Amino acid sequence: MGKKKNLNVKKSRLIVVSNRSPYFFESYKDGIRMTRSVSGMVTGLEPVLASTRGMWIAWGALPKEVTDRIFRIPPENPTFDLKLIQLDANEINRYYLGFSNSTLWPLAHNFLGRTVYEEQDWHVYEQVNDKFAQAVAEEIRSKDTIWVNDYQLSLVPGKMRALGVRGKIGFFWHIPFPPLDLFRTLPWRKEIISGLLGSDLVGFHCRSYANNFLQAVEELLGLDVSFSKGLIRTRRPVQVAAFPMGIDYKRIQSLIKSNNAIDTARKIRKELAAKHLVLGVDRLDYSKGIPERLAAVERFLEENPAYIGKLSFIQVSVPSRIQLPEYAKMQSEVENAVGRINGRFSKRGWVPIHYYFRALPFEELVSYYMASDVCLITPLRDGMNLVAKEYIASQNRNRGMLVLSEFAGAAEELKEAVLVNPYSIPSIVRGLKKALEMKPGERYFRMNEMHQRLKRRDIEKWGRLFLEKLSRQIETKPVKRRP
Ligand code: UDP
Repeated sequence: MGKKKNLNVKKSRLIVVSNRSPYFFESYKDGIRMTRSVSGMVTGLEPVLASTRGMWIAWGALPKEVTDRIFRIPPENPTFDLKLIQLDANEINRYYLGFSNSTLWPLAHNFLGRTVYEEQDWHVYEQVNDKFAQAVAEEIRSKDTIWVNDYQLSLVPGKMRALGVRGKIGFFWHIPFPPLDLFRTLPWRKEIISGLLGSDLVGFHCRSYANNFLQAVEELLGLDVSFSKGLIRTRRPVQVAAFPMGIDYKRIQSLIKSNNAIDTARKIRKELAAKHLVLGVDRLDYSKGIPERLAAVERFLEENPAYIGKLSFIQVSVPSRIQLPEYAKMQSEVENAVGRINGRFSKRGWVPIHYYFRALPFEELVSYYMASDVCLITPLRDGMNLVAKEYIASQNRNRGMLVLSEFAGAAEELKEAVLVNPYSIPSIVRGLKKALEMKPGERYFRMNEMHQRLKRRDIEKWGRLFLEKLSRQIETKPVKRRP
């Protein structure tokens, strides 16, 4: 008793389940090849998966000529299997664009007015979750550990249990979990949380999201919940805990030392010809607060004319979910604002806003981080926000400063950033000015504190801690439901 069981992932395989595949097919002149997708989840999970020679199960389109469903990955030096699930147009429309991205996404990010409650979407969401659960059940061996990822697959743990899967199941919910008042508007609220309770461990980025989830379980299912222990006492106890996702710290350190990145950063500064460079980087999503940020930059120039001709703001907007009308509408709203602000302030040889509507390769993005004096990240709500963390880790000798929304999950760990309320333009303007004019000593102190923290809690550690906790999931006696 009292001794913690060691994680021994080697004895069992790890099965990772996610909506999006970590590798996808791309056509080249000489045929089709598999390309690795760039995401924190892939970076965090691939090493563990490789060490257990496990399997990743995800949705991924297949070219017509490919008839296999299971692939050895990475193709050049395989260490794990990838099983791809196929979805038809109706499933993509209702499960992915519909219930996942027009119901759960806005609700979790506190956008009640944008939340769509559509029964058909829900039914297809259920069916697709079933498809995923069956795909896992077909592959599972008794000692395997299963890690299911994100809100698109909330019913998978429960459905796997119904199919007789008995191994350890961990679930990581990567976006905020909404407060009960919002969550209870969902007609299928009980089904979602019951589905998640098929897991042994449910992880969130922040303590506050975990608490919202525990409160939903207590109030909606009447189960006995310990907030201090993060424990739901049900027939099979469920542990709930926060695991803030980290960044690929080592990769960033090696990039910022490379001549290539240093040269590119120099060129960016020279070519943009501004004394002060401020950077924003996001997927083009209403949760990221891009129109509000542009309005704040405009107000900043209005109120601080000394910066006109000297400060440029670069906004990198990565196209996202463009099939949804709201996202297309936002795109033109943002482009109009950029045009208006540039039309108003530009002078020969200088523009206030540089706008890129595309994804930059990570290597190039790091050079933009290195070149910028301030990173302005002001989401209205964000599960974590890795860009904010990557920016800090990219600052050599801890120069630069981060202005961060208090509603980004990352703000729980990055208290030394200049925290602002993204719903208030004056708050963003004050934050930007404070960051630009901060004394070097204070800047160094704040950046160094955050940098050291990010170094200690990198992406590999995130994956390791989650799996360790899952392997140690404590057994407690069942407690009766409250009347
Ligand atoms: N990213 C990138 N190129 C870009 C913009 C973003 O590679 O042009 C990466 C960025 O480095 C980060 C991720 O995309 O790792 C975005 O993650 P974040 O948590 O900030 O936002 P999300 O898109 O997951 O909401």
